[in-house]
Amino acid sequence: MASDMHLSIEAKHYRQVVDGRLGEAESGERFVRRSPAHDVPAGDYPLADIADTDLAVASARRAFADGPWARMSGAERSRILFRAADLIEKHSEELARADVLEGGKPISQARAEMAGAIDLWRYVAGQARALHGDSNTNLGPHMIGITTREPVGVAALITPWNFPFVIVSQKLPFALAAGCTTVVKPSELTPGSTLRLGELLLEAGLPNGVCNVLVGYGNTVGQRLAEHPDVDMISFTGSTAVGKGIVRASAGNLKRVSLELGGKNPQIVCADAELEGAADAVVFGVFFNAGQCCNSSSRLLIESSVADAFVRRIEEVSRRVVVGDPLDERTKVGAIVSDAQMKRITGFVRDADAAGARIVLGGDRMKTDRGLFMSPTIVAAVDRSMPIAHEEVFGPVLSVLTFDTLDEAIEIANETHYGLSAGIWTDSHQAALRAGRALSAGTVWVNCWMDGFPEMPFGGMRQSGIGRELGREAIAEFTETKSILFHQGRRQNWWVPRRA
Ligand code: NDP
Repeated sequence: MASDMHLSIEAKHYRQVVDGRLGEAESGERFVRRSPAHDVPAGDYPLADIADTDLAVASARRAFADGPWARMSGAERSRILFRAADLIEKHSEELARADVLEGGKPISQARAEMAGAIDLWRYVAGQARALHGDSNTNLGPHMIGITTREPVGVAALITPWNFPFVIVSQKLPFALAAGCTTVVKPSELTPGSTLRLGELLLEAGLPNGVCNVLVGYGNTVGQRLAEHPDVDMISFTGSTAVGKGIVRASAGNLKRVSLELGGKNPQIVCADAELEGAADAVVFGVFFNAGQCCNSSSRLLIESSVADAFVRRIEEVSRRVVVGDPLDERTKVGAIVSDAQMKRITGFVRDADAAGARIVLGGDRMKTDRGLFMSPTIVAAVDRSMPIAHEEVFGPVLSVLTFDTLDEAIEIANETHYGLSAGIWTDSHQAALRAGRALSAGTVWVNCWMDGFPEMPFGGMRQSGIGRELGREAIAEFTETKSILFHQGRRQNWWVPRRA
């Protein structure tokens, strides 16, 4: 364990962004977030409530109805988004540090996430100019149809704590490029980088009210956004349970809803695969971000003939993974975000143990002077009926199951109500293609894991979500399509009787 905990941490003071102004919550209340790794204050923030939410939505509505944003050319919006990307880059170390201190993730990983987020902002800035409708001249001699792409309106974006800056960057620039105005609610566990982003967007030239950022609890601010009659669209990333609540809450005005939810993602490893690479990907896939990742490959499906040797190899590799102080550049696995999350993770492992599974490695909270750290954990002999085989643990815990045929592997892989991502390791292109088509997942990785690009759509099937983020179509998700039909020539009177 990397243990030289950095204690010279200064808590940062943040402000919320409403209607282009940086300030305090209406109630004047503030709250403190403590670093889950160092157990010292990481920052203090205004605590928004219903009144702030209503003000932010009203501001976004005014900016949409009367402001320049929705009417600007794509080129003008693109220029501002490029400036935003430059400012994010300029402040990326500060933003990465906020995510590390509030969320407990390793600094090297947070820097890589920042680079990925900047790439997203630049990708969208380019795409902003490409958004347009279509025309149809195939409707007969008297008609021409055009379709226009109009911004949906006010979009509320609710984000979780596991990848605060990446996830807001998967939503916000796309909404802005479409011409929407926004209210953003990050998780109160990791709000710092999103609040700073709100400030940077003003500096980049975003008109007042186009991006409001509030921090408050899910059951107050989040719920109000989901219910608010003046919010036209809600884009949410988080748990499936809260996602379902958002669908219910949004029914009042039939908002458009986009959901990116959980997963119980399998990596299928066949005996003919390049097993050394597969072992590394399995260890990375489950311990990255301490397993607090919608894309965590929390299930290993290994072909029986190589199972024992493969599990020994991943155990060896896992023992070398450096767990500890997220500010230490050697660290690969940082802290667990909260006590509640720690209890949930250890509960799953204890239940599996009691039900007859075998703890090959780890299995419990690490004993440290301070902070919340979970040992990288491998649980073998997992039975398909155990909760740990099909429920999202959201921690550094790998469940190992075995299979004898590819059909059996696909059947086990699909045996969950999730459908976010899946992977297969094999040397056979036939097997890869078959699995690629048969797996119920929004993304299938073949001989790789968790590679992602702004160009490639991302999202879930089944209860892993609704809609897709990223890719060419993602800006269009924040638009309405309108058909406008033009008639050419004289109208034939409707009332004149005609023979059939
Ligand atoms: P939640 O789904 O509760 O939180 C995600 C976001 O939704 C936060 O901003 C949260 O605010 C907000 N929220 C909570 N309740 C409501 C509500 N009623 N209306 C609107 N917004 C709401 O996730 P948790 O943080 O509680 O994590 C629990 C589990 O969720 C994890 O163990 C994991 O399984 C899953 N999860 C999945 C994620 C993913 O990437 N798909 C991300 C995070 C969690 P607040 O934090 O203030 O409650």
